[in-house]
Amino acid sequence: MIFVTGGAGFIGSNFVLDWLAQNDEPVVNFDKLTYAGNMNNLATINQDPRHIFVQGDIGDTEHVAALLAEHKPRAIVHFAAESHVDRSIHGPAAFIETNVNGTFGLLEAVRAHWTALPAAEQAAFRFLHVSTDEVYGTLGANDAPFTETTQYAPNSPYSASKAASDHLVRSYHHTYGLPTLTTNCSNNYGPYHFPEKLIPLIITNARAGKPLPIYGDGQQVRDWLYVSDHCAAIRRVLEAGQPGEVYNVGGWNEKANLDVVHVLCDILDKLDPKAAGSYRDQITYVTDRPGHDRRYAIDARKIERELGWKPAETFETGIRKTVQWYLDHQDWVSDVQSGDYLKWVAKNYQER
Ligand code: NAD
Repeated sequence: MIFVTGGAGFIGSNFVLDWLAQNDEPVVNFDKLTYAGNMNNLATINQDPRHIFVQGDIGDTEHVAALLAEHKPRAIVHFAAESHVDRSIHGPAAFIETNVNGTFGLLEAVRAHWTALPAAEQAAFRFLHVSTDEVYGTLGANDAPFTETTQYAPNSPYSASKAASDHLVRSYHHTYGLPTLTTNCSNNYGPYHFPEKLIPLIITNARAGKPLPIYGDGQQVRDWLYVSDHCAAIRRVLEAGQPGEVYNVGGWNEKANLDVVHVLCDILDKLDPKAAGSYRDQITYVTDRPGHDRRYAIDARKIERELGWKPAETFETGIRKTVQWYLDHQDWVSDVQSGDYLKWVAKNYQER
């Protein structure tokens, strides 16, 4: 049994689906179901007895403690977070509440549970904290990519809150001996990505005939990784990572935002052509995000060398699959856009 937090979100739901597709070990999926949690992501495993969904808040130490006592997981995989940089600029409080206080509450429940385990189970236990490359700050055009020893320099309330959670996790290893693992990953893309983030926003706006907003000059560089490659990296770190260690995860796919948007428009022009013109005609430049980091790049050599992980997708194969997924899942997109996905809790949760 593993205990996943935030498993109704973008990466968490991909992780739970991949996990259950690959082995029979059950998953407790603990998620608050904020606007970012979408039970439609889990529709194919909603009735699967290996998937135990529980709505709750990671900051609710007593609730988490009761679930750990009931299910006795051998590992925690911690995805739950507020994750959108723009939202953190307009309303940072929720980011401190969930990412910092929530992670602290979760760690406290896990520490108490772990401390009471027999020695052999303590040694085998893992707390895997899923984090971001944004904690390292921004790079100049000629700077070397972030390594695991790059100094933290978070620039947004989102990245600062994730940096704080990384430090808490680190401290629980050094102070209490909790067997923690931390992954710092670059930007993910793929199925079930909420359309407030760049790639799904561009695909859904393009098809709706809406403007395709580009912040500033569009030359901000991000390192992109297909979500199932991130999930594979997490499984590998869980399996073979050394407690107390940090692993950077990235796809060696640095792209300027404008280039990503051009690629998306060009794929859509082929797969779903407009009556006239190109999707590129919808590109609109908007005022840049305050404090917008210029470049992120991940040096993933440690996880490649020590754990033998490598991404299976290139940017070209992954981005094509992603566009095709959105074209094939218009119902999922419509439910998100109309807000219908939020009705799931009212309709289903009480009956389970
Ligand atoms: P997401 O916003 O899509 O999903 C977050 C999930 O956490 C949602 O299901 C939400 O309901 C849940 N949640 C929020 N607050 C909660 C709380 N207090 N208690 C329980 N559940 C709560 O996020 P994502 O993009 O899937 O990211 C998952 C994790 O991976 C985050 O920790 C994020 O920092 C990290 N990460 C994301 C990326 C990326 O590109 N998306 C890259 C690297 C790391």
